[in-house]
Amino acid sequence: MTTRLIDGKAIAADVQARVGRGVSEWVAGHHRRPALVTILVGNDPASAIYVRKKHEACDAIGIESRPVHLPAATRAAELLAYIDACNADDTVDGILVQLPLPRHIDTSAVIERIRPDKDVDGFHPYNIGRLAQRIPVLRPCTPAGIMELLRHTGIDLHGRRACVVGASNHVGRPMAMELLLAGATVTVCHRFTQDLAHHVADAEIVVAAVGKPGLVKGEWLRAGAIVIDVGINRMPDGHLCGDVAYDPSSGKAAWITPVPGGVGPMTVAMLMHNTLEACRLRTMKAGSLA
Ligand code: NAD
Repeated sequence: MTTRLIDGKAIAADVQARVGRGVSEWVAGHHRRPALVTILVGNDPASAIYVRKKHEACDAIGIESRPVHLPAATRAAELLAYIDACNADDTVDGILVQLPLPRHIDTSAVIERIRPDKDVDGFHPYNIGRLAQRIPVLRPCTPAGIMELLRHTGIDLHGRRACVVGASNHVGRPMAMELLLAGATVTVCHRFTQDLAHHVADAEIVVAAVGKPGLVKGEWLRAGAIVIDVGINRMPDGHLCGDVAYDPSSGKAAWITPVPGGVGPMTVAMLMHNTLEACRLRTMKAGSLA
């Protein structure tokens, strides 16, 4: 079997172009441009790159981007007050607080402070709860992007066995809920899982989101598996690698995402989608209340 690469860059470019057309139509309908505020606290270099990529994407498709950079010593109360101001500002459609936050700030309290209808990362308990109850509105970007990648393989997920490796609030858990919503039979593995190899070998779809380079071994994979590698690990020589150690020439998997160029670009594209969606939904809600 030839292993095919799922070209996240190309698929993300399509999604982004589609959102860009949506923005143009929205503005042509005499609406204000959607606006995204990103809040970066501190000087983590990787976070700074992620935020920059998000703003480049906004600029490319006509979403107004407002980057805010706060010092690492920012107090939690100051950050919460800033979020309150963005919540109240009618010209702000999306609020994204770049994670991780400095250790002295409680991440959950910050996420819960964002108005759910401006929570374009989809991390607020309201949005996670809606996904859990099969009535999603603003979906967490990385899992939503992965669902686009899976659609691209043409696979019908109903009844398929999927294994999600990693159970974080922002990737693994919502990923499992997305797969469940799509009709897959889902196993979630985490740091206490015993015999990870067994669960991976049983799965037709494997999503690895752990942050440990090469944790999932190519030889564990079932023949014909679809493999989504979410991990982004910077190695000592500076190159990036994923959580899956797979040699495409082995021909075992049917599809795999490259790192970089797989899941990463989709996360940004889905953020653009969510920002336009948040803008539209809030405008329509305001109209119906008028
Ligand atoms: P996290 O540290 O919050 O969670 C890691 C999860 O892995 C935990 O649930 C933990 O229980 C589990 N885990 C740890 N060791 C394990 C083991 N031996 N076996 C099975 N599970 C184990 O990480 P995260 O925020 O979910 O991110 C995971 C990876 O995905 C990181 O490399 C991150 O950089 C990357 N990421 C990529 C994107 C993207 O857009 N491509 C987005 C978010 C995260």
